[in-house]
Amino acid sequence: MANPYKTREGGATVTVFVPYDCQNHCPFCINKQEYADTTGFSLEKICTSIRRMDAITPRCDFVFTGGEPMADLPSLQVMLDCIPTTHRVFINTTLPVFPDQTQEDVLAFLTRNRGKITCVNISRHMQKYVEESPDELIGRLPVPARVNCVLWKNYPDQDLPAFVERWKGRGVSIQFRYDYTDTTPENLYREEGDRILRDLKKYFTYKGLDGCRMRNGYHFEYDGVEITYHKTLPYSTITETGPDGVTYDILYDVIIKQNGDIHSDWTGVMMDVPAYEKVVFEPDDQHWIERC
Ligand code: SF4
Repeated sequence: MANPYKTREGGATVTVFVPYDCQNHCPFCINKQEYADTTGFSLEKICTSIRRMDAITPRCDFVFTGGEPMADLPSLQVMLDCIPTTHRVFINTTLPVFPDQTQEDVLAFLTRNRGKITCVNISRHMQKYVEESPDELIGRLPVPARVNCVLWKNYPDQDLPAFVERWKGRGVSIQFRYDYTDTTPENLYREEGDRILRDLKKYFTYKGLDGCRMRNGYHFEYDGVEITYHKTLPYSTITETGPDGVTYDILYDVIIKQNGDIHSDWTGVMMDVPAYEKVVFEPDDQHWIERC
């Protein structure tokens, strides 16, 4: 390892790639190719890695992603059971229902785990890319929920208010997302020429901006619905020399791959786990930049 690790208080977020795929083919998906060859996928090795991360940072956030975490509820249960309740747990999902998994099965699973699940992030887009379960299911969820919507290429901006109206009264917030692969340190905070920001400011009430070196969120409100526009860099390590004169790799995300390997970045870098056991912590740099 070139540099010692540093991360924020509590530890970097641990994202777990579940070892099974989704049935969708979203054009902006950057994960799909990872499911083309399932050789080496291992629930057991993922669980070993979850326990290892819990031992190093017992208060970090866990995010389950895929693939589709809720396509195999018994396997998701096994992974959830490895995570003590000291952690916040988020699940990125389409809330899939299919002949062998009814809405009631999904609700029973979430009810059984509501003490563990902090929020489900449900993918719904303005153009229909994912197989959608009924909207009324989202209104019945026993855990907090957020709708994640990628505004990709030529999205129909005139439909933004109708999209938000669709979720009114269902108790969810909405997060619009920029195509991560296009984000750079130069344009992360650049507002000029940002079409999404311009469109959201046209239709919704701007409430403020928070962020850090790696990601940010523009906050809006529309008729009681909380809306965020989220931008993040496509990698999660920043190299910086601290006031102590030491150059650190500052980690924002840790990734557990489908075969249980632990990576220190989205870009395929294996983590030196014994080095992470000695990680140095810094205050969380997420803060409000503007508040209306
Ligand atoms: S639902 Fe998610 S994992 Fe599946 S193709 Fe779409 S973006 Fe990719």
